[in-house]
Amino acid sequence: MAQVDQEIFDLIEKERIRQTKGIELIASENYVSNDVLEAAGSILTNKYAEGYPGKRYYGGCEVVDEIENIAIERAKTLFNAEYVNVQPHSGSQANTAVYHACLNPGDKILGFDLSHGGHLTHGSPVNFSGKLYKNSFYGVEKETGLLNYDKIEEIAVCEKPKMIIAGASAYSREIDYKRFREIADKVNAVLLADIAHPAGLIAKGILMDAVPYAHICTTTTHKTLRGPRGGLIIMGKDFENPFGQKLKNGNLKKMSSLLNSGVFPGNQGGPLEHIIAAKAIAFKEALSDDFLNYMVQVKKNAKVMAEEFVRRDYHLISGGTDNHMMLIDLRNKNITGKEAEELLGKIHITVNKNMVPFDTESPFVTSGIRIGTAAITSRGLKENEMIKIVDIIDRCIQDKPQVLLEKLSDDVFNLTAGYPLFQN
Ligand code: PLP
Repeated sequence: MAQVDQEIFDLIEKERIRQTKGIELIASENYVSNDVLEAAGSILTNKYAEGYPGKRYYGGCEVVDEIENIAIERAKTLFNAEYVNVQPHSGSQANTAVYHACLNPGDKILGFDLSHGGHLTHGSPVNFSGKLYKNSFYGVEKETGLLNYDKIEEIAVCEKPKMIIAGASAYSREIDYKRFREIADKVNAVLLADIAHPAGLIAKGILMDAVPYAHICTTTTHKTLRGPRGGLIIMGKDFENPFGQKLKNGNLKKMSSLLNSGVFPGNQGGPLEHIIAAKAIAFKEALSDDFLNYMVQVKKNAKVMAEEFVRRDYHLISGGTDNHMMLIDLRNKNITGKEAEELLGKIHITVNKNMVPFDTESPFVTSGIRIGTAAITSRGLKENEMIKIVDIIDRCIQDKPQVLLEKLSDDVFNLTAGYPLFQN
């Protein structure tokens, strides 16, 4: 590549150095293994395979059929599922496919407010989900930063949505999917659990499982699951849980075929078989005991980091974390989310600015930052390093002078130098 396209080669190298030398705290990012990387960059990218294994619209699919079937079986084992679809190109497309399968345009949905921690695809007016469907929202309590399930129930009873979406991009606490299901049943709604963020923790039994309670689950494969960028749709084995009457069909086989059609041809063309192979590898990795240890460490690291922030008088929404992330309201530190993101970027720590519930700043400025431990834990960093990272962040945010920034950059490089990206 260096000989043919020096420009792109150099930029990839520059990004490799950025990822290697810096501290990556974006809660939705991770470092995949070399094997996942290899599959994602493999010749499978050349293959068109519209359709599903055994029923394709193109010839020459016998090999990719085997790969996709392996990915499906591994994902089913990982999530104790009856049905999965491994083709969605992203978490957003997984959600789109579910909406296609379960709703008609104009139907009402109830989702987690984006400005309180939800995702764009949960009904935001700037997204297809808020344009095609009538949106309504639940949020967190101002005093506690927590979901109040009784209030969610009240909203559901009042709004009568056809689908309720449980799941978030910036909620650091356990989500009670059982309670969500009770609410959905009460109003005869379909329950979609979007477990994009905590999927890895859920797969290893560290957080409450959504699969037995939600009619349908969706996830990304690249956050805590540590696979390639992509999406996944899951339905559980629990036949005792009848689907809500508002689903177009009452049985799993029919629902599976609606979901498959929702993905292809509903909202995608040919699946990315190189990514599906990389997903298969990531699922195999996630089935291992090593991955359980990794997830346990991700959660421990987040807890230690959150406690250290609180000890230094940072205001964490909900006061702490149960998962891999935390949302920090910086208003008492006299810095906006945007400024903090930029400042930390200067010392090679990557975070993202994030709205906090009841934010007084715009989404481009924000009052908070979101921090996650999935990526740094993949590099092998443990509790002691979490305390060091909080110390670096705190000194950076408190002091801000240029000389200190150079010193703090060195501290970051010294810390990451001991933890190579790839250990397998
Ligand atoms: N759902 C949730 C809860 C998310 O946090 C995200 C991504 O951040 C998505 C869906 C969408 O994933 P993607 O960026 O792959 O479309």
